[in-house]
Amino acid sequence: MGQSNAEKIKAMTLKVLNDPITTHKIAFRIGSVFIGPTYYNRLRDVVAADGIEMRKKGSNNNTASYNPKKDRLTVSFTQLDVNGNRESLLLHELTHAAHDVRGIPRTVLQSEASAYIAQMLFFYFRNEQTFSGDVGPNFGGDKLLSTAWNVSIKARKKGTVISDKDAQKLYTRVKSRYRKHANDYDFDGVDV
Ligand SMILES: [Zn+2]
Repeated sequence: MGQSNAEKIKAMTLKVLNDPITTHKIAFRIGSVFIGPTYYNRLRDVVAADGIEMRKKGSNNNTASYNPKKDRLTVSFTQLDVNGNRESLLLHELTHAAHDVRGIPRTVLQSEASAYIAQMLFFYFRNEQTFSGDVGPNFGGDKLLSTAWNVSIKARKKGTVISDKDAQKLYTRVKSRYRKHANDYDFDGVDV
């Protein structure tokens, strides 16, 4: 018997949570959310103790979501890719999960803004050698992703406090995607 899908997703999750990028490189504040080296510790324990339901849904594209009401991570893949895209996406969802297990109420706006910055920082550090200057990946015209990347550039220095001006740029993009849910707490579509 091989590993179940849930076991594979749990293993990917723990790999991302234990990655030195997560534990040593990502540290920033945006608005009232501070993500530091120990921010994901509690989540790591909860995942290890099977406190988060791991579910595979969909085929091989890169989609993921976290449901804070059901403590459930849903992912469309069970293997990581070489460029860190999937690890970065997982860290995005795990940022939502970390807020949840720490019991700190976050609006969708706060949760998404911090999740996108964490996602972009992980992707940057995973591929650091391939980026020169400020030229980022091609996000296919997705303005939320490209804004998150641009704001994350300044947060590469550990402990950066993202300026209100930059935070507002990202909030504007998050609001335009999440619309009426932006100020909700525990909206169960805290996904992607
Ligand atoms: Zn999200």
